[in-house]
Amino acid sequence: ATQISEGQLSEAALRDQRSQFHPFTSITDLMADGPTVMASGSGVRVTDVDGKEYLDGMAGLWCVNLGYGRKEITQAIARQSERLSFFHTFNGMSTDVVAECAEELLKRAPVPMSRVFFGASGSDANETQLKLIWYYNNLRGKPEKKKIIARWNAYHGSGVATASLTGLPGMHTLFDLPKGPIIHVSAPYYYRNAPEGMSERDFSKQLAKELEDTIEREGADTIAAFFAEAVMGAGGLIPPPEGYFEEIGPILKKHDILLVADEVVSGFGRLGTYWGSQTYGYEPDLITSAKGVTSGYFPMSVCFISPKVWDVIEGAAATAGLFGHGYTYSAHPVGAAAALAALKLIDDLKVVDNVADVGPYMLQQLKDRLGQHAHVGDIRGKGLMIGIELMKDRGAKETFPMANRTGRQILKASAARGLITRALGDTLVFAPPLVINRAEVDELVDKFALAVQDVL
Ligand code: PLP
Repeated sequence: ATQISEGQLSEAALRDQRSQFHPFTSITDLMADGPTVMASGSGVRVTDVDGKEYLDGMAGLWCVNLGYGRKEITQAIARQSERLSFFHTFNGMSTDVVAECAEELLKRAPVPMSRVFFGASGSDANETQLKLIWYYNNLRGKPEKKKIIARWNAYHGSGVATASLTGLPGMHTLFDLPKGPIIHVSAPYYYRNAPEGMSERDFSKQLAKELEDTIEREGADTIAAFFAEAVMGAGGLIPPPEGYFEEIGPILKKHDILLVADEVVSGFGRLGTYWGSQTYGYEPDLITSAKGVTSGYFPMSVCFISPKVWDVIEGAAATAGLFGHGYTYSAHPVGAAAALAALKLIDDLKVVDNVADVGPYMLQQLKDRLGQHAHVGDIRGKGLMIGIELMKDRGAKETFPMANRTGRQILKASAARGLITRALGDTLVFAPPLVINRAEVDELVDKFALAVQDVL
């Protein structure tokens, strides 16, 4: 099963195949097909080592929001690397560029926020949030209030705690993760999970009731926080049903439970508003962001901390001592320079307005081309986060057998036609650079529709 397909692969692919242990990759597929090795990128396109060009329908991993080869960012990175390539922020140190970046980020928060805490990835940022939440409740004399509610299908990261928080059983098995005080409630997956004939509003009410029942069963005094992506990404591209956050918000407030908005994907414009919480109208107490903050040009994450949480931390500082948490690469000055350049481009290029225009256009184009296809069950999304869920029988909502690997077949057919998509099971996903224009969307939809025809 693990035969190396020598002969057809480039030198780079062979090197990679025999040396790299890839994240989230089937070893048998890698050995059979070889890796796809990219070499360069420009705008919404990347080119592999064999010279084949692809339209990148996934912006890398939902992160290259401004597209590839943006000189404003690469030059900012080069300038900062030469001026001061590293300094840290432990023990009260900082750098001028980090101070400016922190202030610019706070200006862009969806609700007034008191501080930002920097890291290098979405996973480490959510680990920070968990520790912050427990720290906060210890400081305010509520040491029992520690449980965390997340949702099935959620993706919050790959760390020991954040993989537990993630609601994808495939990330729990075989790793012996300590479950910790984490509780999962149902995903807001209207297409798959709503009872036949139930409206989105009623499904939202049902989910809100499940949440409230869970809180009452466990005891509100034991529950610290609720984590949610605006639109679920890696768990299957699941936008919330109408009214969902409207129903959930007041329940959390009533029970003094913090709302943590995981905006790692949705932040910085992806849904057609600057933040996902603005698309759905809720007020987070903590925000996790990463990816788009530097458009993927440098690893950086940002936790936003509301006055409610910060005031407790600051108020107790004299007795609590220092906040014993941080990473060497928290607030990396080169990352801050990249972020400042990216934030300016998001404003200057009116990227959020582009998503608000092109996102609904892309969704409609996909529906026009594929909405009636016998094996397309659902086409859904918000802004430039769009998923196409395949079904063996769309009327009966019967899925293809796992062994068919239909999603992966379409991914491969798309790649053959020069288009990158992502297969989350049999849901094919698009999250292209936010600067994509209508002509590029037409090309994407065309290539994808042909790839679907190639397979189904
Ligand atoms: N949270 C969400 C919503 C994500 O989509 C991701 C990654 O895709 C993460 C957290 C983890 O981020 P990272 O891969 O940078 O650790």
